[in-house]
Amino acid sequence: MNYKSTRNSGISVTASSAILEGISADGGLYVPESTPWLSYNDIKALTDSDYVSRAADILGRFLNDFTNSEVMDCVSRAYTREKFETDSIAPIYMLENGVYLLELWHGPTSAFKDIALQLLPYLMKVSVSKAKTEKTVVILVATSGDTGKAALEGFKDVDGTKIMVFYPENGVSPMQKRQMITQEGGNVAICAIKGNFDDAQSVVKEIFADADIRDKLSENNMMFSSANSINWGRLVPQIVYYVSSYCDLIKNNKITCGEQVNFVVPTGNFGNILAAYYAKKMGIPVNKLICASNANNVLADFIQTGVYDRNRPFYTTISPSMDILISSNLERLLFDLSGCDDAKIREWMSQLAETGRYEVDDTVKNSLHEHFWSGFCSDDDTKAVIKEIYAKYAYVCDPHTAVALHVYEQYKKKTSDTTKTLIASTASPFKFAPNVLEAINGESGRLGEREMLEKVAELAMCHIPKQIAGLFSKPERFRDETCKKTEMKEEIIRSLGL
Ligand SMILES: *Cc1c(COP(=O)(O)O)cnc(C)c1O
Repeated sequence: MNYKSTRNSGISVTASSAILEGISADGGLYVPESTPWLSYNDIKALTDSDYVSRAADILGRFLNDFTNSEVMDCVSRAYTREKFETDSIAPIYMLENGVYLLELWHGPTSAFKDIALQLLPYLMKVSVSKAKTEKTVVILVATSGDTGKAALEGFKDVDGTKIMVFYPENGVSPMQKRQMITQEGGNVAICAIKGNFDDAQSVVKEIFADADIRDKLSENNMMFSSANSINWGRLVPQIVYYVSSYCDLIKNNKITCGEQVNFVVPTGNFGNILAAYYAKKMGIPVNKLICASNANNVLADFIQTGVYDRNRPFYTTISPSMDILISSNLERLLFDLSGCDDAKIREWMSQLAETGRYEVDDTVKNSLHEHFWSGFCSDDDTKAVIKEIYAKYAYVCDPHTAVALHVYEQYKKKTSDTTKTLIASTASPFKFAPNVLEAINGESGRLGEREMLEKVAELAMCHIPKQIAGLFSKPERFRDETCKKTEMKEEIIRSLGL
């Protein structure tokens, strides 16, 4: 099973080429030509194994030109106790019977992106060796906060790679910024841009397609790749935890094998929820995929109406990793729901580029409604949920998870559905301490950064994660690096010494 581009179904490349290239030269995203199927017995068998074996099994089904031992080697190096706080990698916390939080933030940067970005460098290394290239892989990243740090941590000092991260100057939380500007490693560069995440992502995508800079790289024995979720290598590790969480619910007698569940996902670039869609396509019995947006509710509207319209104000919210108006991975879903109609995708994506708007046809609208439900949550409601969840369950959740919890409440009210539900919890509350504390007891104003973390630890009755506590003693290496979005290309050329 090879991979084709969403903008050209005629293209067929191996998994390793898809991972190495990151994005197809036609601007499309790589998708698998077919989806592996998990039978009832396969799911039963996975239920009896641990996270590493589950990951090896599922990845092996997608990564067609990787050997089993290559896959096993990658996953067993990525998913270790040294890097993750728990052996289960993605533990489940039961809020109440039938409602479960899938905690995806126990990795080295305390955000769900670690699960993919701890693995991606290993997948990339195998992909480089298969391509028999001597080129240095230059990873370009646009981040709304969490991807940047997780990618830097994954790729730091990985031989044969360099990584450059662009983040919106005023669009990340203080902790996210601290995590990035204190980054260690000899192959890393970080730059704040005057603009938002969409600006950063659009320019990065343009640069990938820029023949001039690609030639320059090639002359210097380098090539670009991506660690954003446009890269298939980012998505496939995310499918694993949806399958794995379903198995864990069976193992703990919360569901029977074959029983349906809902997944609720706080959504920005549509990568995480798309992975849940693939888990469903693989045979995990999913009733609804519930897409939760913050005030930047372009996706919530799209799922309801079939009209994607980014011509609306961009809000900076307290769930910054979801402050996105152009969700790249939606393209993969539309390709799938339209029956792999690459001509339609080209048409809709060029309308999006030209007018900021497109409307899908009725077939796609109907399948959207069959699989998805959507809603959005304001900052005030986000804070109210954080407070309420703490009061009710003594559980401290981060603002992104709170958005998902709120939209799930809306869903239950509207539908009265009682299907057991897993809610993706995407970040540790320690990354967003000021807003979390303000929500719970109106306290943030008076406290210093350290004190706030201690307060969150007290409320959550746990330790400050060591990777967060340790940041305060690290020098700020990248304090002053900023550029305009029109200068990003120059910045890359300068930084790489081209
Ligand atoms: C990236 C991120 C999201 C959004 O995930 P997408 O895959 O971009 O939809 C949600 N929450 C947190 C904490 C994130 O870091």
